[in-house]
Amino acid sequence: MDKKTMKDIIQHKVEKIQPVIYGIAEYLHSHPEVGTEERMAADYLRHVLTTAGFSVTPLVPEKFPTAFHAVIGNGPFQMGFLAEYDALPEMGHACGHNLIAAMSVGAAIAFAAAAEENATIHVYGCPAEETAGSKVYMSEQHVFDMLDAAVIIHPSSETAIGGTSYATHPLQFTFTGKSAHVADPDYHGINALDALVDFYSRLKKLDTTFTEPHIIGAIITEGGLVPNIIPHRGVLKATIRALKTEYLEHTMLPQIRELAKQTAEEHGTALEMVHYEPLCKDMINDPRMDVYFAENFNLLHEKFAVKDDTYASGSTDVGNVSYDTRVCQPEIEIGEDIAAHTLGFASAAGSVYGKMQALTGAKAMAMVAVDVLFEPEFQQ
Ligand SMILES: [Zn+2]
Ligand SMILES: [Zn+2]
Repeated sequence: MDKKTMKDIIQHKVEKIQPVIYGIAEYLHSHPEVGTEERMAADYLRHVLTTAGFSVTPLVPEKFPTAFHAVIGNGPFQMGFLAEYDALPEMGHACGHNLIAAMSVGAAIAFAAAAEENATIHVYGCPAEETAGSKVYMSEQHVFDMLDAAVIIHPSSETAIGGTSYATHPLQFTFTGKSAHVADPDYHGINALDALVDFYSRLKKLDTTFTEPHIIGAIITEGGLVPNIIPHRGVLKATIRALKTEYLEHTMLPQIRELAKQTAEEHGTALEMVHYEPLCKDMINDPRMDVYFAENFNLLHEKFAVKDDTYASGSTDVGNVSYDTRVCQPEIEIGEDIAAHTLGFASAAGSVYGKMQALTGAKAMAMVAVDVLFEPEFQQ
């Protein structure tokens, strides 16, 4: 079968399963569940995929009971579709992950219809993108290693290809001293807040010496209980980010850790450093797949912008997958002048237009999978 025939089959299949794609988008939207609690969403998606002939098994259940792995086909080409389905507290699907699930499942079903015996098609149910970042753990467990490529599309205020995301290391520093009455003439204690504030201002200075694109955000979350007791404990939380994982891990973090140690030593406090959220790597969009998305968006009459490789607005656990296999994560427009994590975005994610765009997204993803399949290295 040639490429064009396969892409025609995909477009027809997506139109045919429109009720399935809309069904996912609507059900998840009207039953929003936050990260690691997406039981109804995961059950619904498992059911849809089982009905479509996929065999569905738990994936990393020891850590994420709402994760799953669905497989169909047994061809040599291993294609992954990444589904997310967590919502935000009190806002519902304000990041549009209901549409991500709808697109990825729809695309996988359509690609399976076209690829026949040439491919093995995987759908990864990836919970908690907004919080625990299940893909970070999945990546550590090597679940993506055998893939030839993977795709995911994120809803947005414009359709766009390219860009990256920040590698991020959320680090908590706890300085521990000794409490004492501030007025006790004989016993002065060790002021952990002094150490912490000193570290905070030195961190600000160090920040200005880093030469590659980066961000350091820091707040003091504990700095004493009452003013007449010398604070014995001070806690600072920082989100330390860089456009490149390598720069973050090998240049920034060692210097920041060393600075914290030095400061603690000078003040005579103990110091503990722990990361309190998952460690996301930067997103490397596969350049060839970027081009395929551009070609297929053109075929589907979907206008798009192209973002610079250094453009990043946030962090995502898809970045970790991009270190395991070729990945591409473009964005698709579901409404104008909307910003993620707002109620306006949540209503766009439940709109008729949002669902129509999910059809375009599902088609584009499956058609890109065809383009990868037709690369010489996958043709014998
Ligand atoms: Zn989000
Ligand atoms: Zn999101």
